[in-house]
Formats: sequence, structure tokens, C-alpha cells
Amino acid sequence: MKAHDGMYIDGAWRPAAGRDTIPVVNPADEQVIAEVPAGGAEDVDAAVRAARAALPAWAATPPAERAARIAALRDVLVARKDEIAETVTAELGAPLPFSQAVHAGVPVLVAGSYAELAASYAFEEKVGNSTVYAEPVGVVGAITPWNYPLHQIVAKVAPALAAGCTVVLKPAEDTPLTAQLFAEAVHEAGIPAGVFNLVTGLGPVAGQALAEHDGVDLVSFTGSTAVGRQIGATAGAAVKRVALELGGKSANVILPSADLAKAVGVGIANVMGNSGQTCSAWTRMLVHTSQYDEAVALAAEAAAKYGDRIGPLVNAKQHARVRGYIEQGVAEGARLVAGGPEAPREQGYFVSPTVFADVTPEMTIAQEEIFGPVVSLIRYEDEDDALRIANGTVYGLAGAVWAGDDAEAVAFARRMDTGQVDINGGRFNPLAPFGGYKQSGVGRELGSHGLAEYLQTKSLQF
Ligand code: NAP
Ligand code: MG
Repeated sequence: MKAHDGMYIDGAWRPAAGRDTIPVVNPADEQVIAEVPAGGAEDVDAAVRAARAALPAWAATPPAERAARIAALRDVLVARKDEIAETVTAELGAPLPFSQAVHAGVPVLVAGSYAELAASYAFEEKVGNSTVYAEPVGVVGAITPWNYPLHQIVAKVAPALAAGCTVVLKPAEDTPLTAQLFAEAVHEAGIPAGVFNLVTGLGPVAGQALAEHDGVDLVSFTGSTAVGRQIGATAGAAVKRVALELGGKSANVILPSADLAKAVGVGIANVMGNSGQTCSAWTRMLVHTSQYDEAVALAAEAAAKYGDRIGPLVNAKQHARVRGYIEQGVAEGARLVAGGPEAPREQGYFVSPTVFADVTPEMTIAQEEIFGPVVSLIRYEDEDDALRIANGTVYGLAGAVWAGDDAEAVAFARRMDTGQVDINGGRFNPLAPFGGYKQSGVGRELGSHGLAEYLQTKSLQF
């Protein structure tokens, strides 16, 4: 695969300060497909300086002009969508149709939404005898994970640019090629030099240097709770703005009046897409005791049908981790009804679509984020019991509720401690705020709420 051997800083590809590189591995066959430079503090510093130097002019660029540049970026993402999908498939392992529809498709929607929002947002408001201005926070340090490699970049960079901020991105070490493609797209879109900068590298080196840099005004992080906690502490000590999009253990609540077959089928597909590597996946399926056995049979059948259509996990570490969780589920007394801990293929980091029945709410597999193709079916006695189980983890990112009518589902959803709930299979909305309650994070991404994260207010009194 094509790779740049430098960093994209101040509008050009520049050699890295050091000689270290990161191998990029295709998780489907374990072959090294490229090498990218492993940046360090010096590279981060150069990128932050470029972002700071570009800030005054970009912040002063009229919103309509910023909108036009973001629209141009969207157009490049459309023109290069096949290349994007192939790159994501090569370094993440997602099956090509999923990469085309989701990994390449969703960023186009999100970039398009920010082209529109940049043009229409009220950056100025009259409040009594005051005028309130929404001004860019400044230089953004964006740190992204590998599971939706382009979406997570666009969900930070597009609103930051719409707000008038400049950005330094440190993408995940597993998926740097998608990030390099994005940098090319920024360049092609005519976004001025220094407004967006890319430093590839390792989290504890380049990521930490970026989070700690004095020249960064806001850190936006998506990834594990452990690293998020650390970044939040660093940002707190420096009185720096921070947005954290962390893990989840979301509940798919099937009320007795629901269409059971549909709710189970969509629920299994929701987890298996992207091999379970989705922070908002509904990994706990909550079923009324009267329908439990039927739901178990349906779930096992749906998972078995998934079979070979599932991609591998991203790397050897995640492969070992997920298989470890499956073994732990068995050891704690859950019943395997599909899949299991054995690797289904000799090569590649594959795990079979796995379904556990007889899972109790306190089991490890019902509490911790597995980040693999594993669904736990949990039995409830009545609605209050279902609510207690749904809310009974440290997380609160997403969820689903199924019922005979939307009103019944909405009444339940309003009692859930979570940031996003799909009602009876509701569709993805790129304008809906996305983010967590409880330990799932701080702040929101997408739509106008996502834009507001990158703005600070100034009021003038007359
Ligand atoms: P991670 O380590 O939190 O990685 C997320 C990003 O943070 C990556 O760019 C990473 O760089 C960087 N990073 C790591 N340590 C850092 C540090 N000390 N300072 C600054 N940045 C740092 O997550 P992971 O190791 O890829 O995955 C572990 C688990 O996190 C998963 O099993 C899953 O449970 C969870 N996860 C959640 C999401 C989500 O969307 N909420 C996404 C991915 C993973 P490197 O790539 O070099 O590590
Ligand atoms: Mg990591």
C-alpha cells in the first residue's frame, strides 16, 4: 500500500525528526503492508507551531468561506471513496462492502453536514444589551482510535474547521494510512497550510506529547477509558478544554410487545458489523423471561448465519483480549450458543460471531467492554428489572429499545442513563449529538452540539 514517509505539517509532507517507523499490518493475513514514521515530541511541536501560526487567519476567515473549503473536502472524499474503502479494509480488516458503505460513506455525510452548519450556524447572537460571539477555542489536539478510522477523524476535524479552529491529528498506530489519505484530501480541498496537520506515532509518545503541549487549547480524544482518564487529568491540570468519547456497554432492551425476531436480528447485526469493534454496539440484549428461550434460538441462528461475512479484529492484542473474555464468560457460567474462543482460521485475527445465553448482569462479560463480536443475552422479570440491568454498568453511551409502539419505547428510553437510544430500529442521524453519560465520556460529537464543543463565547455589552 502507498504510504508517505513524512508528516503532513504546514501544508506539505516533511521528514520526521527521528528514524523510527511503525509497521502497518493487514489483520486478515497478518502481512506488513506499509511503514509510516513514528513521530515524537519534536514532530508534535512543529505541528502545533504550524497550527498556531495558521490560527488567526483561519479564525478570521468568514464562515461561508470555511464552509466552502469543508464542502470541497467532502467532494474529495466522494471522489476518492473507493481508495478510502480499500485502505480501511487493508489496515482495519473490515469486509469491503462494509468499508464502502460505512467507513467511506459516513464521513461524507458528516463532512457535508459541517459544510452546511458552518454556513448556517449563528456565530453571533443578541442577548438584551449584549452581543455574544461564538469564537474558536484555538488549536485542537485530536487523538483518534482505529475502529472507525476515517469517521472519527472527520467527526473531530470537520467541526473544528467549521468553528475556525486549527488542528493537529494523532491517529491510531493501527490505521495511519487512512489518516494519510485524509491529509491528502485536505490538501486537495485547498484548505490553507497549517490549518490541519498530521503526526503519525505511538500513543504514549506522540499522543501524550500532543495532549501535554502548552500550545494546544483543546484535546479531543476517542478511545479507551484508561487513556481517556489520563488525558482528562492532564487537561484538567492545565485548565484546558477536553472532550472524551470513551467506551460503552450498551443495552438492547426488547420489551414484550416488540417484534422479537426483528429486534433480535437487528441487534445481532448491530454488534457483528465491524466485528464488534464499535463503542456504541448493543452488546447486552435484554429479553423478558417469557420470550427468553425463543430469543436465544433466534440470536444463535442469526449469529451462525453471519459466519464468514465477519472481518478479523484489528490486531493480535485485541484478538487475544477478546478470546480471553469469551473464555472468562464460559468460566463464570454463561452458556455458549454460537461461536466460542477458538480461532476459526489459521491466519488472520478472526473470532467467530459469538452469543452467550444465561448471562447474569454482574458477570464480567456483562460489565466490561469486550470490543469483539460477542453478544450477551440477559433475562429480565419486569420493566423495572430491565431498567436496573440496562443502567447497571459504569457506561452510558448508547442503547436500543423495541416495543409495540414508539411511545412505549420512548417512555423506557427516557429512564435510561445513556446518551443515544435507537427507538424500534431508528436510523443513523449524522446531526444527532453523540456522546456518553457516566464514564462513557465528556462532551458531544456531530451536528450543532459537536460544533459547539470547539467554540467559546465572548459577550460585548452596549
Ligand atoms: P487507546 O489506547 O485508548 O487508543 C486510542 C488513541 O489514543 C490512539 O490513537 C492511541 O495511540 C492513543 N493513545 C494511547 N495511549 C495514549 C497516551 N498515553 N496519551 C495519548 N494518547 C494515547 O485504545 P486501544 O489500545 O486502541 O484499544 C483498547 C480498548 O479501548 C479497546 O479494546 C476498546 O475497549 C477501547 N476502544 C474504544 C473506542 C471507542 O470508540 N470508544 C475505540 C477504540 C478502542 P495508539 O494507537 O498508538 O495506541
Ligand atoms: Mg493503545
